[in-house]
Amino acid sequence: NEIFNEGLVEIKVPKFEKVSSSAPVFYNPKMEFNRDISILALQTFQEEVDREINICDVFGGSGIRAIRYKKEISDVGNVAVNDISSLAIEQSLENSIANDVEIDIYQHEANILLRENRGIFDVLDIDPFGTTSYFVDSVGYSLKKDSLLCITATDTSALCGTYKEPCIRKYNAKPYKSEYCHENGIRILAGFVALTIAKYKKYIEDIKLSHSSEHYMRLYIKINKGSANTDESLANNIGYISHCKKCLYRSSIKVLANSIPENCPICGEKLINAGPLWIGYLQNADFINKMIQKIDEYNPDSHNNRLDENNNDISNNPNKKHVNTEKKVLKLLNTCLEEADAPITFYDIHLICRNLKISAPKLVDVMNMMKEEGFIATKTHFNPIGIKSDIDIVRLKEIVRYLSKNI
Ligand code: SAM
Repeated sequence: NEIFNEGLVEIKVPKFEKVSSSAPVFYNPKMEFNRDISILALQTFQEEVDREINICDVFGGSGIRAIRYKKEISDVGNVAVNDISSLAIEQSLENSIANDVEIDIYQHEANILLRENRGIFDVLDIDPFGTTSYFVDSVGYSLKKDSLLCITATDTSALCGTYKEPCIRKYNAKPYKSEYCHENGIRILAGFVALTIAKYKKYIEDIKLSHSSEHYMRLYIKINKGSANTDESLANNIGYISHCKKCLYRSSIKVLANSIPENCPICGEKLINAGPLWIGYLQNADFINKMIQKIDEYNPDSHNNRLDENNNDISNNPNKKHVNTEKKVLKLLNTCLEEADAPITFYDIHLICRNLKISAPKLVDVMNMMKEEGFIATKTHFNPIGIKSDIDIVRLKEIVRYLSKNI
């Protein structure tokens, strides 16, 4: 066995050569960052709804996530862990006993668990290998009103459009491999969730946080119930993104109210339309702000030398929580906060310069000039050189050309 420390817990997993779906029990130490963010998000959600929350990690693996949720989040009721693998279940049980937490343990195929436990959980965590698409219908059936859906997808090549057909097959949406394809991918996944759960009169009230990091995409989605609100949410948030690959024009369109445009209004080229996808907000600034403030409560110090306000060593205090990946979490959350209210898609200045056959000016100069002209210009976590803005491509090209001449 190997032993790993994370947050407040220590878990054992059978020794594995490399992190993969063929490991006897799945545990990926790199996902500590993801689990740290989840802890902050779930605690923030719990405080917003202001009631005890029941949580289910539907794809539990070693049990680390469920055990951490039970141990590190306040006002948690029952935490359940489920996995189809008996070895994973044995390990989850052993790890929960070793960490002195009580969790409910299930061994079901995920869809069966979700169908048999309708309306029980306030938080569903969906973290399978690869695509989530096989499970979203059961998630829609199972979700209760006023709940949180945390969903991870690792089939990013489909969602981002490297392979078009798998995306159409799995998510019933056409992707497009643009410079903002990761944003598009998250929008396709969110759109698929919204359209799939709508038949159960459930809707996305709000996407609290979403991010594309390393090999996966992760969304924290507030769900609610009601037919009128479901209709309204689909009408406002489901659409297409039209993109011109010749001049880089792009726009979004609400599909239930409008027809999809065929040609680029700037250069006349045939447009590429990606979707249906979520064209609403992907981040909630208020929620992310609360998460950022929470990091302090979760102890900014290092594991080994932690002192409280009276300089007492609290390293072994089981009630003091940890966010070990604090720096990385803060960087992501701050960027997500910055881009929270920015418009759809983003520009890649290098791509625009290649399109214009000119050399690229400094990013900061372009952003400053955009802001001076009254446009939004913010960074995005999707791409370190991406700019989110309400500027149109024609004016942006003029700015870039002007600055390029003065390099
Ligand atoms: N959530 C875990 C964590 O944070 O460490 C990791 C989960 S791992 C990516 C996916 C797990 O889902 C594996 O342990 C696998 O055995 C289990 N699994 C795969 N297909 C399943 C299914 N259809 N129903 C239930 N569990 C399944």
